[in-house]
Amino acid sequence: MAETLTIALSKGRIFKETLPLLAAAGIEPLDDPETSRKLILDTNHDDVKFVIIRATDVPTYVQYGAADIGVAGKDVLMEHGGDGLYEPLDLGIARCRLMVAGRPDAVEPRGRLHVATKFVNVTRRYYAERGRQVEVIKLYGSMELAPLVGLADRIVDIVDTGNTLRANGLAPLEHIADISARLVVNRAAMKMKHARLQSLIDCMAAAVAATA
Ligand code: ADP
Ligand code: MG
Repeated sequence: MAETLTIALSKGRIFKETLPLLAAAGIEPLDDPETSRKLILDTNHDDVKFVIIRATDVPTYVQYGAADIGVAGKDVLMEHGGDGLYEPLDLGIARCRLMVAGRPDAVEPRGRLHVATKFVNVTRRYYAERGRQVEVIKLYGSMELAPLVGLADRIVDIVDTGNTLRANGLAPLEHIADISARLVVNRAAMKMKHARLQSLIDCMAAAVAATA
């Protein structure tokens, strides 16, 4: 039997939208991660496994070679930095925007701008490039709350419809980047398992092109 190929995926949107692209490459999971408690899923190939992990952990697993290949949002990759990762394909799924948001009537504070986000690296870089002194406040969720209770002047978060922002009296203010999910491959695996990975990438690329 060939060496195992390990594919890192997160539950939810990315898993659902990646499935048809993997199916186009002939790979199908034998379990549904939404109902199964298993973290390693078998597939219809004995030598292909999925590991089901948090979206933000995908680059780390692939960077260290615990997974050969994975799918991660560009937001997560920008925050991670992309060390040790090869990013061969934009899957065009899980599209959204990374934005600065705040109260629509927000005035610039006298002192430092306080910005709440889970994307602290991206946020520091964004404001540093603009020569703006900011205090970045790390949060793990419900970013929209921060401006409402005076924790922050702005948030940096992903925005799709803007409904969550609007529901909390916030508005998108500045566009940082367009986001979609990307295929990421461990650089060493790309050499050691080149034929299998390249054919997987090619099949997924063809499926992406067919749905575009
Ligand atoms: P988390 O575990 O961080 O909540 P999600 O499953 O919500 O992960 O998001 C995974 C990825 O999907 C994000 O990194 C982002 O790239 C993308 N994403 C998140 N929210 C949306 C959205 N509302 N619309 C489209 N893509 C999104
Ligand atoms: Mg989410």
